[in-house]
Amino acid sequence: MPYRAEYIWQDGRKPTSLLRSKTKIVPDGAEPPIWGFDGSSTEQAPGDNSDCVLRPVKVVSDPIRGGDDKLVMCDVLNPDMTPHETNTRVLAVEAEEMYGDQEPWFGLEQEYTFYKDGRPHGWPIGGFPAPQGGYYCGVGADEIWGRDVVEDHTWACMEAGLDISGTNAEVMIGQWEFQIGPAGTVDVGDQLWLARWLLYRIAEDYDISATLNPKPVKGDWNGAGMHTNFSTKAMRESYEPIIAACEALGEKAQEHVKHYGAGIEDRLTGLHETAPWSEYSYGVSDRGASVRIPWQVARDQKGYIEDRRPNANADPYVVASMMVNTICSKLA
Ligand code: ADP
Ligand code: MN
Ligand code: MN
Ligand code: MN
Repeated sequence: MPYRAEYIWQDGRKPTSLLRSKTKIVPDGAEPPIWGFDGSSTEQAPGDNSDCVLRPVKVVSDPIRGGDDKLVMCDVLNPDMTPHETNTRVLAVEAEEMYGDQEPWFGLEQEYTFYKDGRPHGWPIGGFPAPQGGYYCGVGADEIWGRDVVEDHTWACMEAGLDISGTNAEVMIGQWEFQIGPAGTVDVGDQLWLARWLLYRIAEDYDISATLNPKPVKGDWNGAGMHTNFSTKAMRESYEPIIAACEALGEKAQEHVKHYGAGIEDRLTGLHETAPWSEYSYGVSDRGASVRIPWQVARDQKGYIEDRRPNANADPYVVASMMVNTICSKLA
């Protein structure tokens, strides 16, 4: 029997690329081959020279279709097989080639917001929900909206063999989080893009849209981030490299913030468990710092750090490559 392969890739939209996918029927026993698409419809090519190439980079079981069907994460190439200018995965590949010997690990906390009928899920028509306070890790129909989607998504990630490590309801009504990791510099990005695709696709069946908007509701409501937990072998063994990593991030703070997702100034205000985007700080247990050292890490004198700045809409290939380049060049 032939099988269905869903080819998934990042498009060329600015400032934030979104996912596209299409289905290929692949002959029995064959690997998903290189394929192509019309780049003029995805902001990746002009109409008179529209061909772009899809290169499979990670293939997993398709938990939605089941059977022998597959999900195929791809990166985008030009017809001459050079990386397309929208291809950020190659940055992560370069960083891994350069510093993979330090064994970098990432754990990404993907926050997101459900929308239904044009407003955040759970938001009453023409009014306001009760203020924040009970929604984080809440239970009950007065606190929680969309749990059925979350449960389906978690199971789908597990069936696909992704390293999903947990989920929780978030501080803002209709907002949730899942975590992917620990995984390597390139792989964590491949996995996160697949997990994002599964989220959008599964929510579609519930007539709900999941969004990565970093600040869905202005005012006294939490934004959505992609906290990035990071360690190297040396950091997992002693404390000095933990501090060195925090200091290294401080030296390039503004450069990092610029590439941590569009609209970051709206989210990193200094309120709602964030540090202001224009200032850099780190501290133990401090959820108001740019970078947090978890208390267990301070106690054990080894472990990992959490960069709290990346937005929910950040590109994990970009964030991971920057962190590896900035930190590992100092730890070497
Ligand atoms: P928070 O307390 O900030 O909400 P979470 O539990 O949501 O943290 O997420 C922590 C993430 O960090 C998880 O994905 C976990 O797998 C990952 N993680 C744990 N240890 C390490 C490590 N040594 N290096 C990198 N990531 C790690
Ligand atoms: Mn978390
Ligand atoms: Mn969170
Ligand atoms: Mn966190």
